[in-house]
Amino acid sequence: MNFQSAAILALSVAILSVVLSVTISITLLRRGQKALPHDPQQAPEQDRLLRLNRAIEQMLELNNLEDRLRLLAVTLREFGWGRVTITLRDKSPLIVEPANSIPTPDDLIIDQAWQTRWEKQPPAELTKYRVGPGYFFTKLDIDATEGVSDGYAWLPGDLFAIPIRFGNGLTVAVIKLFDPTNGQRPTSANTHYVTILAAQARAAIESSQLVEEVGLITQQLEDQIEELVMMQHVDRELAATLDFDAVMMLTMDWAIRRTGASAGMLNMVTPDGTGLFPVAALGYSPESTARYSERNPLPLTQGVTGRAVRTRQVQIIADTQTDPEYIELLDTTRSEVAVPMEMRGGIIGVLNLESEQVDAFDNLSVPFITRLAARAAVALDNARLYREAESRADQMSALYSAGRSVSSSLERADVLKNIARSLAGLLDTSYTVVADYSPERSELVVSAFYRANDKPDTPELPVVAGTVIELGTYPDLQHTLNAQRAIDTYESDQALPETIRSFLVRMQCKALLMVPMLVQDRFLGVVMALEQRRERIFTQDEILLAESLASQSAAALRQATLYEDVRELENVKTEMIRMASHDLRNPLGNLMGYFEILVSTLDKVITSDQTEYVAYVRNSTEIMRTLIEDLLTLDRLESERQIAWIAIDFKDLVAAEIEGQKSSAELKQQTLTLFIDHADNRSFNVLGSKTQLRQAVANLVGNAIKYTPADGNIQAKLTHNGKHILFEVEDTGYGISPERQVKLFQRFYRAREVSTEHIPGTGLGLSMVKTVVERHGGEVWVHSELGVGSTFGFWLPIPPASDPALSGDTT
Ligand code: ADP
Repeated sequence: MNFQSAAILALSVAILSVVLSVTISITLLRRGQKALPHDPQQAPEQDRLLRLNRAIEQMLELNNLEDRLRLLAVTLREFGWGRVTITLRDKSPLIVEPANSIPTPDDLIIDQAWQTRWEKQPPAELTKYRVGPGYFFTKLDIDATEGVSDGYAWLPGDLFAIPIRFGNGLTVAVIKLFDPTNGQRPTSANTHYVTILAAQARAAIESSQLVEEVGLITQQLEDQIEELVMMQHVDRELAATLDFDAVMMLTMDWAIRRTGASAGMLNMVTPDGTGLFPVAALGYSPESTARYSERNPLPLTQGVTGRAVRTRQVQIIADTQTDPEYIELLDTTRSEVAVPMEMRGGIIGVLNLESEQVDAFDNLSVPFITRLAARAAVALDNARLYREAESRADQMSALYSAGRSVSSSLERADVLKNIARSLAGLLDTSYTVVADYSPERSELVVSAFYRANDKPDTPELPVVAGTVIELGTYPDLQHTLNAQRAIDTYESDQALPETIRSFLVRMQCKALLMVPMLVQDRFLGVVMALEQRRERIFTQDEILLAESLASQSAAALRQATLYEDVRELENVKTEMIRMASHDLRNPLGNLMGYFEILVSTLDKVITSDQTEYVAYVRNSTEIMRTLIEDLLTLDRLESERQIAWIAIDFKDLVAAEIEGQKSSAELKQQTLTLFIDHADNRSFNVLGSKTQLRQAVANLVGNAIKYTPADGNIQAKLTHNGKHILFEVEDTGYGISPERQVKLFQRFYRAREVSTEHIPGTGLGLSMVKTVVERHGGEVWVHSELGVGSTFGFWLPIPPASDPALSGDTT
């Protein structure tokens, strides 16, 4: 039977019994009335019955049991009893009428003897005291019925007691009547009204008890319904949102309200199963919630919550002051309950509630909290799985960005710094060290280190860049590194070899993770994560992360070393070219000068063959001169500083350059035109180096003339689009095949097409254009089709109008 039907049944019984008792009363009244013919002698009796009827009616109108019984006692007194007491089971006399009289021992609770006597059927020896609805006891030990007909007088100390019994025989109350005003013992003939009133008392008591019971059942039912609704809510939230925090807060808030706790906390067991940390808390200060965290959990060996996990039992701490394991998070807490949360056979967390009252968690609230914890365990488990997936994703992304950071630079010093910082970021340790390995001397040399949260009062680190660690001093370390394995250890590790322990002491740390950096099995050095604050066991995941980072670091270091070598070579090459060009320019100038003098003196005697040789020499020296000039221009470009920039009217610059090259075009019967977009009167001012930009323009125009056969057309165009100035040169020349176009802007690259093979050049011009344009914040491009023609161009940014440099010299 469920609570609802029980409650309905109880209510129906209550109503039925009240109706029944009223029916009995009325029947008895009628019987009394029937016995009232027109006999004037009976008139007072009729009066009494009417009064009784009224009293019952009044009584039914009252809600409260005590009020009803008091009215009943008053009525009994009106009906001729000097004193009336009504005593409820297990209670002191509830009603003593007259109200100011002092209760006598007889009025006191229904004693043991009365209960045992009346709860069974009255034993034979009591039957002799039976009078009407009750029992008459007299101090004179004579049969109650004896002499009644003779109208024996009531003696002091006599008692007429009416037990009120339920159907199951349980005596729930006793009405005791004393001192009848007529001075006579009660007789069964004149105690009808007592019977009626006793039935009323019974109905009143019964209905009040039922109302109480129904109230209790209703309360339980309400609680049950609230619980079901809440659980449903939790389930729904869980299924719909996976919003763990919201569900947990809801659960906690509910647990606190239902149990009257002042604070609640949901703790999760760490992945390695050694500690607990809070995942949701309500009613605690932020400091106390932050005391333990996933990185700094409460060891399972401590606290009431730790004990709940260890013992797998609910911990009810009636008085927290008497529990030595209790850890105070709230100074007002006096009692606590901690419920372990089980999932798939393991304990995954603990739900604990705290109260400011001693012994606040009783046997009633604990089953509820346990049910709640079971429900929350599902949420917690989901959250745990989610967290694991998330943390793996976090680790991956951390590793990815660490890897990127490590390989973001080709400078060895930067790479080293990045390795140290990335490792600290990945593992959150006090400090990290990167050390190179020197195989000849079998030692590690610290090349970089990183300390997290460098506060002014942190002690000096035991290492600096350059610190040497002789591996010979730590044979176990050397052995493990030689085997290319990682070392992870902590101070109190039982299996820790002595030499590694002394290494921990030297590094002033409580936990260490050291991973070798290997490139193709070559041992380059190590990365170390060191924890000074506390002991720590590095998880398998963390070791894997460090190993991944170490291998990325090794590759990055190797690359940095290679880059250093290449850069060194590049420097040597550049220096050589610079020296060579400088040193060649003057002798070549001399050579060309003397050669021309020689040719002019030979003018008359020279043969036609010799004239051809002279042309060859001229041509070759010209090529050499251009090459040297181009090299020197590039060199100058690279060393010219940006501060020398001025505002330039690019339109004038281009127009002058086109004008200057017109004669070369005319020599090849080419047309060379310039179109300038004058729309909107926009300014063509740019900020930059005039020499460099002129060289860039000259180069594109010069190339167009050079790589376009006679009679071709070359059109230069200068436009702008509001943001950029665009310069392009279109020709109807030889064009370049697509595969060669991609390399055009590389130094010394010459696109050798059959059609252009005969044209001399150095392959430096376009590379110079690119350098100049990019230095000015622009970009170069080319469109070309073999045999059709090419368009080379670039854009330059228009400087903001407010730029003060633009108001300066524009010549
Ligand atoms: P150079 O002209 O001294 O060879 P550049 O760097 O100026 O060096 O040009 C690189 C190569 O690009 C040239 O060798 C040539 O093959 C190709 N090139 C440049 N401009 C044009 C053009 N307008 N038409 C066809 N090919 C061109």
